Amino acid sequence: MVVLKAASPPVPSVNKINNGTIKPLITPSPSSFINLDQGDPEVFRSYWRKKSEECTVVINGGDLMSYLSDTSNVCWFMLPELREAIQRLHRVVGNASAGMDKHIVVGTGSTQLFQAALFALSPSNSPIPINVVAASPYYSEYKDEVEILRSGLYRWGGDAREYDKNEAYIEVVTAPNNPCGSMRRGVANCEGEGKVIHDLAYYWPQYTPITQQYDHDLMLFTFSKCTGHAGSRIGWAIVKDIEVARKMTRFIQMSSIGVSKESQTRVAKIIGMICDSYEKIGSSLDSDELFFEYSKRKMRERWEKLRAVVDKSNLLSLAKYPKTYCTFTNHTSESYPAFAWMKCKGGIEDCESFMRNLKVFVRGGKRFGVDQKYARVSLLSRDDMFNEFLTRISNITSDRKYNLN
Ligand code: PMP
Repeated sequence: MVVLKAASPPVPSVNKINNGTIKPLITPSPSSFINLDQGDPEVFRSYWRKKSEECTVVINGGDLMSYLSDTSNVCWFMLPELREAIQRLHRVVGNASAGMDKHIVVGTGSTQLFQAALFALSPSNSPIPINVVAASPYYSEYKDEVEILRSGLYRWGGDAREYDKNEAYIEVVTAPNNPCGSMRRGVANCEGEGKVIHDLAYYWPQYTPITQQYDHDLMLFTFSKCTGHAGSRIGWAIVKDIEVARKMTRFIQMSSIGVSKESQTRVAKIIGMICDSYEKIGSSLDSDELFFEYSKRKMRERWEKLRAVVDKSNLLSLAKYPKTYCTFTNHTSESYPAFAWMKCKGGIEDCESFMRNLKVFVRGGKRFGVDQKYARVSLLSRDDMFNEFLTRISNITSDRKYNLN
């Protein structure tokens, strides 16, 4: 009898430290493609590697088995230790008011919470769907998230600045904005009744100076961008109105009966470590031990390197950000957004295609509701990807052999 053996698949060289994620660790070469399209947050990994032990959580076989966590809370699947950790983090950073007068709803990423918020803010008895608007350039996923289910409750209403219908609307305000990094306020100006979702995914000190403690009706945050632990899929909403918090909780119950407790436990542990380290300031800790100091330095270095290269280019440009006083660091500084919002000049009409000529994937302006001259470049990638990107764009200034459209 002949036994046919299936050929073993080639074993990729795997990033072993990247526990559990089978991701080939390919060092970029001048001929390889670099993906700076998604905002996958790899940039802070070396900090978290150093903190591995301090952040380890042990979950035993019999732990965390119930659907329920705290039935006295509106968000009954949220672990009390996570709620306390989130409140503590906002107290330490001073970026949002999350005291006992607020309701916190945990979600599987803020992606789930965005949809829960749309569900909660949409009138249930209206014959027509409510319009969801955002000022362009807006986060590219909002439109798709609004449209995917072809919901009878809500529909995409386009650019908030152009919204002039005499109908109720929900405006999404992203501050700092993804893709362009600017701080924003609501802009929709029409007769209809408006509700606002504030997406504050990047309102953390490494990306922008903290200028005030926000206290909006509905604020979304995500651990993905706060620390870079996107794989844990934890986001939270801070909500003033208990009925809105109840409806959001109901949505999450209907879509996933709660949120992984393993993830909640891990996030509570990591937040605890960050807050503990700030409370030890002035003792033996050096500033690179402090997460927001480390991460801000890292983002600043990337922006300084990028600006130095772009300033020499006659084909690319970047927005400038004002210097502002940060109440968290007690220093004045620029913003160092998670994405570079790049504009092509010199007759280049399509920045995304231009970058693809350089074998760099970026996200073109059209996805954000604006001109193709713009493109969003993730600055959250691994160091080697970022450095290779710099090398490629520093070579384009004198070399005009590119296909410009
Ligand atoms: N809002 C904004 C503005 C984002 O950039 C992102 C992530 N790219 C999200 C929400 C979703 O984050 P999460 O990983 O928590 O789903």
